Amino acid sequence: MSDPTGTRHNDEPLHREVLIVGGGVAGLTAAVYTARAGLDTLVYDGGESILRRNAHLENFPGFPAGVNPRLFADMLHAQATRNGADLVDGRIVELQRAEIDDAPGFLAIAEDGTETYADRVIAASWADTDYLDPVGLEIRAAGSKAFLEDDEDGRTSVDGLYAAGRLAERYHQATVAAGDGARTAITLIHDSETPFYHDWVVPEGYFTDRGREVPPGCEEIDDTERAAREAESSAAMREYFAEAHGERQRTHPSLVDDEQGRVEES
Ligand SMILES: Cc1cc2nc3c(=O)[nH]c(=O)nc-3n(C[C@H](O)[C@H](O)[C@H](O)COP(=O)(O)OP(=O)(O)OC[C@H]3O[C@@H](n4cnc5c(N)ncnc54)[C@H](O)[C@@H]3O)c2cc1C
Repeated sequence: MSDPTGTRHNDEPLHREVLIVGGGVAGLTAAVYTARAGLDTLVYDGGESILRRNAHLENFPGFPAGVNPRLFADMLHAQATRNGADLVDGRIVELQRAEIDDAPGFLAIAEDGTETYADRVIAASWADTDYLDPVGLEIRAAGSKAFLEDDEDGRTSVDGLYAAGRLAERYHQATVAAGDGARTAITLIHDSETPFYHDWVVPEGYFTDRGREVPPGCEEIDDTERAAREAESSAAMREYFAEAHGERQRTHPSLVDDEQGRVEES
């Protein structure tokens, strides 16, 4: 992959339509949706989805016998990039409001100093809110945790700034975080006035044989294309599940001498 932070021109920060802060379950799901809607999407991920601490993920739909959570996180990562999102490893340390071509937007600064302009930002960075201080968003403190308030569809009180996943105080399950990432992304897509219907792939003729145009965001595919996609999907899944995932199990970082909570193999 080419450098997703891109080449700067005249030292101007790169401009993205959507910046997602946090490449965990909610952020990567949101990225799948915004990228598939054709929005130029960049995800910054500062390290580890908390899901990587799970021992075996058994309540995510579609995996009857469960799935290794680190494999699941890797597959979600691959799904976001396959659908066109760019991913960068690194933390966002500051988000400011900015004028971009006379329109309101944001300037995000990463810990290595890289700056990115974005028209819209999704905060999916459980459990970090520090970088949001300059935008003046109200943040609800609850003990050691902090949550963003939103309108239940992901919009915060700052125009163009959205919240998703556990950070928006959704229930603490991966399926909920994924669904919330999708919902927030679809809210953003509608707000950006991107033509979008449902992001459905349907059999050839599903709309057109009823005299309807294929709605924006939808795709009709014929049987040859369907079979090709299914074959590719089967091959990819066989490869993902061919061997045990190599990454070490995590636990709470306070329990072991490893900043990411990796447990030594016994
Ligand atoms: C031990 C454990 C077991 C669990 N088991 C289950 C289970 O069995 N089933 C289930 O449904 N759920 C389980 N969960 C809950 C599930 O993991 C979470 O609800 C889900 O991961 C929340 O998704 P999220 O995207 O909001 O947060 P995360 O998945 O944690 O993603 C947040 C991401 O933001 C990144 N980030 C943070 N700050 C920044 C920043 N400043 N810049 C850039 N990136 C940043 C983080 O590195 C992280 O990758 C478990 C959680 C834990 C801790």
